[in-house]
Amino acid sequence: MSSTRRSVALLGATGSIGVQTLDVLRQEPEAFELVALSGGEQVSELAAMVEEFHVTCVGVLSDSHRMQLAELVGSHVDIVVGDVGLRQLASSADIVVNAVLGFAGLPVTLSALAAGKRLALANKESLIAAAPLVAHVRATPGATLLPVDSEHCAIHQCLASSPGLAGYPDVRRLLLTASGGPFRGWSTEQLRGATKRDALNHPTWNMGPKITIDSSTLMNKGLEVLEASALFGIDVDRVDVVVHPQSIVHSMVEYVDGSVLAQLSRPDMRLPIAYCLGLPVRLDHGYGAIDFTQKVELTFEAPDPMAFPAIGLAYEAARLGGAAPAWLSAANEVAVAAFLDDVIAWCEIIDVVSHVMDRYSPDPLHSLDELIANDAQARREAHSILKK
Ligand code: MG
Repeated sequence: MSSTRRSVALLGATGSIGVQTLDVLRQEPEAFELVALSGGEQVSELAAMVEEFHVTCVGVLSDSHRMQLAELVGSHVDIVVGDVGLRQLASSADIVVNAVLGFAGLPVTLSALAAGKRLALANKESLIAAAPLVAHVRATPGATLLPVDSEHCAIHQCLASSPGLAGYPDVRRLLLTASGGPFRGWSTEQLRGATKRDALNHPTWNMGPKITIDSSTLMNKGLEVLEASALFGIDVDRVDVVVHPQSIVHSMVEYVDGSVLAQLSRPDMRLPIAYCLGLPVRLDHGYGAIDFTQKVELTFEAPDPMAFPAIGLAYEAARLGGAAPAWLSAANEVAVAAFLDDVIAWCEIIDVVSHVMDRYSPDPLHSLDELIANDAQARREAHSILKK
């Protein structure tokens, strides 16, 4: 077994997905070797990970983080800094897990694919913003893009069981399930009084704060529509959203003959992480296994587009194409950060995004420089709207 041990780089190790990836790796010391890590502000957590997994290469945000970490881990550990460091780490292992938060994860996505690696992608923002650029590097020999996002991992599993033809002509539509978040069933009136505490209290999933807020506005599902379209090369008009409060069915594929395939488990992110690491082998841990001796209730309903306009904004951005998805994602990142910093109310998050999108004028996307310029402009527009 040790001769086939695969090396893993875990970038964004201190966030929720990072910590759960370490949990999977801890169970599989014979199959995987963690060789590189990166993290944000939590330098002492990074140091503890370096020690536990005997990692020799670590990426940090800045020179001051580098100095703090160097004092904790000793001189045998190679410490790299910033985007340049991330790019270096993203081409250093057989499998790269991209769990970096937001647009900052883009260098990891592009570098891992350009180096022909397997990319386990938990950073949907980089794929959504940079879809045409990602499509280009995905053609690199050896490059494989596997989605850690539970819905897309479910669709990957369904499609893999019935491979069909390029472009999936026999697929009528992808059905992305949404828990509906903490505000499912709330009226527009009630939503005006939604607090940070309410929004951070997700009913079924345990996740980091950014995605938890995105789940409360359903922007997460809107971004996932774009993510599904980019990942599977299926037009957004063939991607639908279904609210499924139990978070057991993680998504479905409907075929032209009326058959629907679904993937089911209890909500546990370690399952999609383990799937992306282990493929083509399934790792034997039973993460999320369902106990069918207990009553299992599965219900489905349509989302409420009036109370949750984020999904509609995402479809509009997809139809505009070009840099519009990048604007949507960037504006949302700024608005969610402002909400978490108590600058705006919950009900204003999507208003800010919507106003930014009103200022977007169609701009095709050919290069990384154009994308970075568009991302920066969308953030400036969001900040100028926040100031008003
Ligand atoms: Mg998801």
